[in-house]
Amino acid sequence: MNNRQLFLNHLAQTTDFPLMIEIERAEGIYMYGPDGKRYIDLISGIGVSNVGHRHPQVLNAIQEQLDKYLHLMVYGEYVQSPQVQLAQALCQTLPDTLNNVYLVNSGSEAVEGALKLAKRYTNRREIISCINAYHGSSHGSLSVGGNEVFKRAYRPLLPGISNILYGSYYQLDQITEQTAAVIIETIQGEAGIRVACKQYFQALRKRCDETGTLLILDEIQAGFGRTGKFWAFEHFEIVPDILVCAKGMGGGMPIGAFIANQVVMASFKSNPLLGHITTFGGHPVSSAASLATLKVIQKSNLLEQVETKANLFKELLVHPKIIAIRNKGLMMAIEFESFEVLKPIIDRAIGMGVITDWFLFCDDSMRIAPPLVITEEEIREACAIILQAIG
Ligand code: PMP
Repeated sequence: MNNRQLFLNHLAQTTDFPLMIEIERAEGIYMYGPDGKRYIDLISGIGVSNVGHRHPQVLNAIQEQLDKYLHLMVYGEYVQSPQVQLAQALCQTLPDTLNNVYLVNSGSEAVEGALKLAKRYTNRREIISCINAYHGSSHGSLSVGGNEVFKRAYRPLLPGISNILYGSYYQLDQITEQTAAVIIETIQGEAGIRVACKQYFQALRKRCDETGTLLILDEIQAGFGRTGKFWAFEHFEIVPDILVCAKGMGGGMPIGAFIANQVVMASFKSNPLLGHITTFGGHPVSSAASLATLKVIQKSNLLEQVETKANLFKELLVHPKIIAIRNKGLMMAIEFESFEVLKPIIDRAIGMGVITDWFLFCDDSMRIAPPLVITEEEIREACAIILQAIG
């Protein structure tokens, strides 16, 4: 049996439309099939490979850590250099109030931790999240998801959760003294790239302050440079109480984090109540990779180039079938009339060597989230292929 048959027979499927692209190796913005076919990766594993596939500095950091140790102990017991160095470097990218990092394995786990922390710190039970939000697939993170279709089969989910409309001032008064936290994606990803304005975020911050509610920003997709700032909230001049990240953080390795103030985080410690426990959270190899990724972003001019590169995509992707383009930096959605129009375009583009896909809650829009290292020349080549695929 070949790998494609094994994929269908023995690997649990998550979708009716798996892209089914077989890749043997990847480098920078390129992926290569077993037959040597070259693909331009325009989705970065959904915002993961921000510094490109197998960035040499990330590989070096992984190799150095492999030579020392893999796993020693559950998170939070031993002093492990990759974890503490990463935590310090993360805090240095953030305002002083965000000075304590809890390292975990994934985005969903980071969201779980953030929600639990907000309950512990505030001693409140109600959580507000947004319609069409995606925060993960575990029970807690699914509970704060904003798409009823995805949640229905798993009810009862967490109680005490209500949804507001992302970007709507009029619903902010639903945040009250009973609300432990508002969890919101700084830029809504799976909803098809929706960007609220600065005034909205400032009003949201104000309402949270007035009611003693913690503001949790989910930057699992938008963080680590994707929007042209290291953190997306920097565009809006607000500071969250808890910041959640993963995906691009690991440079291709699995890791996530929720980050808060030391005082907030300390509410996890008071015995005998458990805070959050994780065996592999902040895995030393992933932490080393993450630290290298962070340094690559900081020491390069990748962030400054994001806006120019995004503008080039927008300039080139002009076609009567393209209805709109929504973006914040290189987090882009290209809107078509329907999934029926879009799907064959995506398939044809893949056939011609350009990988894109669509969004979980927005299947009329093409996702474009290339590695930030993509060059202008590569953007021109990719866009020419997409236009050809549109026909
Ligand atoms: N939050 C957001 C905004 C995401 O985009 C995702 C993943 N698509 C998650 C949370 C969940 O992350 P993970 O898949 O690592 O659990």
